[in-house]
Parts: sequence; structure tokens; C-alpha cells
Amino acid sequence: MITRFAPSPTGPLHLGHAFSALTAARRAQAEGGTFLLRIEDIDQSRARPEWEELIYEDLHWLGLSWPEPVMRQSERMPAYRAALQRLWDMGLLYPCSCTRRDIAAAASAPQEGGDPVVGPDGIVYPGTCRPATPPTGPLPEAVLRLNMAAAMERACRHEALQFTETGRGPNGEHGRQEIALRRMIDKIGDVVLARREMGTSYHLAVVVDDAAQGVTEVVRGADLFEATPIHALLHRLLGLPTPVYHHHRLIRDADGKRLAKRDDARAIRLYREDGRTPAEVMKMVGLPPAPTG
Ligand code: GLU
Repeated sequence: MITRFAPSPTGPLHLGHAFSALTAARRAQAEGGTFLLRIEDIDQSRARPEWEELIYEDLHWLGLSWPEPVMRQSERMPAYRAALQRLWDMGLLYPCSCTRRDIAAAASAPQEGGDPVVGPDGIVYPGTCRPATPPTGPLPEAVLRLNMAAAMERACRHEALQFTETGRGPNGEHGRQEIALRRMIDKIGDVVLARREMGTSYHLAVVVDDAAQGVTEVVRGADLFEATPIHALLHRLLGLPTPVYHHHRLIRDADGKRLAKRDDARAIRLYREDGRTPAEVMKMVGLPPAPTG
């Protein structure tokens, strides 16, 4: 089994990250497998080298180790571009020039039925820039969206789309998860696969990299469960294997709110500097002390 922890170096790791990394490492260890670390730094406007350094320090302190060198997404642009080129050649991408404000206005226009539908990427795109026929010519350096209806049609021609959940989704989902066409079109829609100034997107990068690293079980928070159908779709289109998914509970604060990077008070570094031990941090997130051997 190959698992991974894939943080973005945009702030200090908190207790939720500790839980996620430890869960991924322990699941691999229990099977005699490998735990990998990947730095998800495609958003160069927010990623900082000092946060990346802190990730290594915090995870080493927790007793984790991983093979070097670590994969960093900022060094993987050619691989993302190649994946975009494939999807472009299949006629499944189109450039989009809408601003957030355009999308909000179009999605709440009376003819769209009032309230915009919000999916894992925000408001479901109302289709303003979607062309009637696939665009031709070279792959543009632009914001690129996936034509969801066309993509699903192509992906599901011979076999329904599905993935296996070994953990729990936000509503207790477990086992084989069927991905319904209508839901993908109505609730997720034409997601962005290449963002402005990034040349890629979270969804595209995560799919390309999990495959490149041979990850067999993706361990991550249940907040990403709703994005998983997008990932399974991209695997199918790009001819990549779909790993098994293990979504886990989210660590919440005393008010029941999930932790965010800005909740500095929960930063692992602060527990570390306070003289707490890794075993105490494990206890705080409901994990037994590190297994020995
Ligand atoms: N980089 C993502 C994050 O920090 C996690 C991606 C994933 O595990 O799929 O939230």
C-alpha cells in the first residue's frame, strides 16, 4: 500500500493535519507499505518556503519519515500541461473568461431558476463560455474548464464511474460509490482545470501526481469526499488507475468548527514549543501512541 500526505505550504500545520498525516502513515505501515509526502505548492501567491520548512519539522517531530526527494507540485508543470493537452485533444476543455462576479450574476439570473447551486468548487458554472462545438487549435494559456457533460459521456461509454471508500464520507458513505451522471452535471458542473496564473488546478494536479507516485490509497479529510468523483472522472479520461479512497473525520475545535490554517492556536508548532510531546498530540486527536517497531 502506498499512501501520502499532501499539504499546501500556506500556513502552519494544525491538529487536523497531524491526524491526517499520522493516519496515512499508520495505514501504510500496518500493511508494510510506504508513506509519501507531497508538497502542494501550485498556488505560488500563497505558498512560502518557511511554511514548507515548518511542515518538515512538524512531521519529523511527530515521528514520521518518508522517501526523499519529496515531490513538489511547483516542479511538475510539464506533467500537468501534458494532461491538459490530452483533454484538449479529446475536445473536453474550453477557455473561460468569466470573473467570479460574472458567474454569480449569471447563476442567479431568473432564467437559471434563482438560487445558484454550490458544489465542491463553489457556484456550479452556468455555462456562459461553453462552446457548442469543441474548440480547435493549439492548447491556449488560459483559464480552462472541463465540459462535464461531454466528459461524462466519454468516460462512461463502456463502464459506469465509481470509486471505493474504505473510510467514511461526511454522511457515513462507505464501500463502492457509484457516480451518477446527473449529479456530476447539476451539482459539480464544468470545473476549472487550469486556473489563471497557475496553469493547473488542485483537481488536475492531485490526479496526475497520485498516479505518478503510484499512490494506492488516498487518505484525506472528509471535506474532500465531494471532490472525489471529479478525480475518478479525470483518472478514467487520462487512462490512470483510480486509487482507493480513505476519507477521515475532521478535527474540530471546542465549538465544533473544523480547524483552518488561520487557527494558529492549534498549530503543531505551538504544542511543540510548549513542551508537549508527540504522544500528547496523538491523544488530542484521538489516536493511540505511535506503534513501535
Ligand atoms: N493539498 C490539499 C490540502 O492541503 C490536500 C489534497 C488531498 O489530500 O487530496 O488541503
